[in-house]
Amino acid sequence: MTIVRNVLLSASESRWLRERAVKLPFVRRAVSRFMPGETLDDALAASRALGIGAVLTRLGENLRSADEADGVARHYLEVLDRVRAEGLDVEISVKPTQLGLDFSREQCERHLHALAERARSYGNWVWVDIESTAYTVATLDLYRRLRGAFPNTGVCVQSYLYRTAADVESLIALGSGIRLVKGAYREPPDKAFPKKKDVDESFYRLVERLLSAEARDKGVRAIFGTHDPVLIRRIEELGRSRGLSPGQVEFQMLYGIARAEQQRLTAAGYRLRVLISYGEAWFAWYMRRLAERPANVLFVLRSVFGA
Ligand SMILES: Cc1cc2nc3c(=O)[nH]c(=O)nc-3n(C[C@H](O)[C@H](O)[C@H](O)COP(=O)(O)OP(=O)(O)OC[C@H]3O[C@@H](n4cnc5c(N)ncnc54)[C@H](O)[C@@H]3O)c2cc1C
Repeated sequence: MTIVRNVLLSASESRWLRERAVKLPFVRRAVSRFMPGETLDDALAASRALGIGAVLTRLGENLRSADEADGVARHYLEVLDRVRAEGLDVEISVKPTQLGLDFSREQCERHLHALAERARSYGNWVWVDIESTAYTVATLDLYRRLRGAFPNTGVCVQSYLYRTAADVESLIALGSGIRLVKGAYREPPDKAFPKKKDVDESFYRLVERLLSAEARDKGVRAIFGTHDPVLIRRIEELGRSRGLSPGQVEFQMLYGIARAEQQRLTAAGYRLRVLISYGEAWFAWYMRRLAERPANVLFVLRSVFGA
């Protein structure tokens, strides 16, 4: 499984493959399982149809020019305006490299602040995605400054990284929004737990911290971004044992994954948002989704052969 995961994660970084794969109809068909469409209208229609809270993210990373990053920022401002005008319960989640981090930290920071400001004026929220370890330090620095001015913001952290336990402590001290996930990139064993069971255990230990009285007193908004049924049961159990009601525990899951679990948690009173991705730049993102569950490759193959 590790070999398949590594092959898929390498593929996610291949421009040659991307240029060819995105044109293949069977790949486009398979992608639609995880993505309602390429446009903002598609994403807004999907969030309306879901009838529960959503988080929207436009795909695209490692942009090459300041103009592109400006365009992305303008797009997200429009998303916030449309969400407000249409009365939807939809937050946004943005990647720093989508806002120019590769070439200008200042530009990225300016965009993040503009988005957080617009979101605040609407009583809305901005999430900052976390990418590969090439960007961890810069992203957390950007987030800390953002949080200083805008409490309506949160950042994602990855349980597969050794450093995350310490990062979570410093983020709790700031009363941050913290979205905990396992981590989706290819990282070396000196930075990330190579074994899944250690990643899962690290996730649970971080949940214990994020659901602590100390974190709640600091005003932390903790989100558990996972579809892992074992972890979800453990989180529910921990919440109960700490006297928390379901409404005090919040999950986020990806569109198209673990739908039955999404419905079960919502019916049980847990807070749950579905993260909806949209946009034309879906290749690297889709390869990471395949890498998370190599059985998805069979799904793609079945759609080729019509089995
Ligand atoms: C809201 C949200 C935001 C995220 N943001 C980031 C981010 O900013 N940075 C980052 O590195 N990662 C991010 N991720 C991805 C995350 O790191 C994991 O790669 C992803 O969530 C899969 O891990 P898991 O916790 O579901 O557990 P896993 O152990 O990978 O999966 C548990 C079970 O969930 C189901 N499942 C999981 N993934 C899939 C899939 N692709 N297709 C079908 N079934 C699946 C399967 O039943 C699987 O057995 C985000 C995930 C979510 C839900």
